[in-house]
Amino acid sequence: MRTYSLSMFPNDDTYRISVKKIDGGLISTYLHENLNIGDSIEAMIPMGVFTVKDKKNDIVLISGGIGVTPLLAMLYEESSTRNNIHFIQAVQNSSLHPFKNDIESIAKIKGIKNTVFYSNPLDSDKEGIDYNFTGYVNKNYLKDNVNLDSDFYLCGPPVFMKAVESTLLELGVDSSKINYELFSK
Ligand SMILES: Cc1cc2nc3c(=O)[nH]c(=O)nc-3n(C[C@H](O)[C@H](O)[C@H](O)COP(=O)(O)OP(=O)(O)OC[C@H]3O[C@@H](n4cnc5c(N)ncnc54)[C@H](O)[C@@H]3O)c2cc1C
Repeated sequence: MRTYSLSMFPNDDTYRISVKKIDGGLISTYLHENLNIGDSIEAMIPMGVFTVKDKKNDIVLISGGIGVTPLLAMLYEESSTRNNIHFIQAVQNSSLHPFKNDIESIAKIKGIKNTVFYSNPLDSDKEGIDYNFTGYVNKNYLKDNVNLDSDFYLCGPPVFMKAVESTLLELGVDSSKINYELFSK
């Protein structure tokens, strides 16, 4: 059994998951290489508590890598009624940049702030054009560019989450405002 976040807003027709193929990973490799359109899988009902708590407060959604999936679902849902959202996506480079076009187009249409960090850009990746900043999501950036009174939602690799959470705490964000989902048990 494996757990996957819903990566699409709630709707009556479909559940969408988005799975990163992990080297040596049993189920993610199976889903990529063996499952075909029209196949059925057995699944439990969706469950979890990683949802936007307050529909009015500013929200900052900060993802690392494939941790973007639950935050993308939140972006779809929340951007249908408001635009006080800041979407921050950290990935390695353009070869591992999930949902780039979807997020850019929502941000453009809805007037939402969208910031992208590449930790290891390719030679062809141009800062300021393909992405905003080289490196990791860092203290100076958060201090100067983010409303620290917002509600924060984080999802990504454990190291990334620890780093972002401790930076937010150092900047004085109350721990009750920091929400996260771990992709490991
Ligand atoms: C709440 C939650 C939400 C999630 N949402 C998503 C999502 O939206 N999208 C997504 O892609 N993932 C998501 N995940 C992660 C997902 O559940 C799986 O953990 C992931 O797909 C890897 O599963 P796997 O079967 O491919 O890898 P596994 O076979 O479980 O292996 C995991 C890792 O362990 C290594 N490994 C396996 N066996 C060994 C061994 N014997 N010795 C050493 N190393 C080994 C593998 O190389 C791999 O790196 C989520 C997890 C949680 C808990």
